[in-house]
Amino acid sequence: MQIEARTQAAIIDGKAIAARVRAQAAAAARELAASGVIPGLAVVLVGEDPASQIYVRNKGRRTIEAGMRSFEHKLPARTSQDELLALVRQLNGDPAVHGILVQMPLPKHIDADRIVAALDPDKDVDGLHPLNAGRIVLGKPGLVPCTPQGCVILARHVLGEDLSGLDVVVIGRSILVGKPVALLFQNANCTVTMAHSRTRNLPALCRRADILVAAAGRREMVRGDWIKPGATVIDVGINRIAGADGRSRLVGDVAFEEARQVARAITPVPGGVGPRTIACLLLNTVQAARTIAGRRA
Ligand code: NAD
Repeated sequence: MQIEARTQAAIIDGKAIAARVRAQAAAAARELAASGVIPGLAVVLVGEDPASQIYVRNKGRRTIEAGMRSFEHKLPARTSQDELLALVRQLNGDPAVHGILVQMPLPKHIDADRIVAALDPDKDVDGLHPLNAGRIVLGKPGLVPCTPQGCVILARHVLGEDLSGLDVVVIGRSILVGKPVALLFQNANCTVTMAHSRTRNLPALCRRADILVAAAGRREMVRGDWIKPGATVIDVGINRIAGADGRSRLVGDVAFEEARQVARAITPVPGGVGPRTIACLLLNTVQAARTIAGRRA
């Protein structure tokens, strides 16, 4: 396919957008505090995974900065499923805790589905409980997973609030990312096609997209000539590769330099979708605190 010469795409500044969302969450937390409710987020980490430890530390810091309470539960990797279930039940019943996030992945001997199913759905700020997944399918309000929510917010940042009628192609159909992303864009009145590893002629399909979301976890798979000129490209993929200097670096699922010659706007990796995730988590915690306060009233 011939790519027209165009000006380069705008790079979507995920960090700046995340800062705005965190400020919004902090303002909502102040409002709740004035009515006597300080939103509290409990994060549970099982094991010593270094990436997860960094995420948990950042979440705790951002929670406190937003004027909320942060509770961290760090458990050893040998923690049994029953011990973890007991902690989840304790947090479900704790009135100071409005949001519970169990950091994934969990050690292999723990059934993650059972842990998620044990969460109070109103405190499930990761939006993973089957009841919250069902609410997205039904188009009802509920707690929405943070990364998919971030994709819609980034698209609206570029294209405006009304996304009605736009063609969206989502590459990836995982429960954590692809499926909820597709449903959220559908709820925003877009025409959505979900692609996956068995999809035929993926490049041609992608070329139809006004909004292309790449969430396959395949480094730089989406090439410049897969992109419709003027499309908005949201790259969710995070792939670690060895750089020429021997140090590792992160790249997305989209060949960034090629794509930015064709797209209207594109998220970089890192610095695009990632920073939005914690910001959405804070918003979800505020939303959970409101719901739970309403439940008690
Ligand atoms: P996953 O492995 O569970 O799912 C990948 C999906 O991509 C599957 O549905 C599969 O069918 C599809 N796929 C794989 N290869 C394909 C191909 N060649 N063509 C078309 N489709 C293909 O992964 P996931 O948990 O959904 O995560 C996807 C990516 O997003 C990963 O790189 C992950 O690290 C990243 N991620 C980023 C954030 C963030 O905050 N930025 C959050 C979660 C996940």
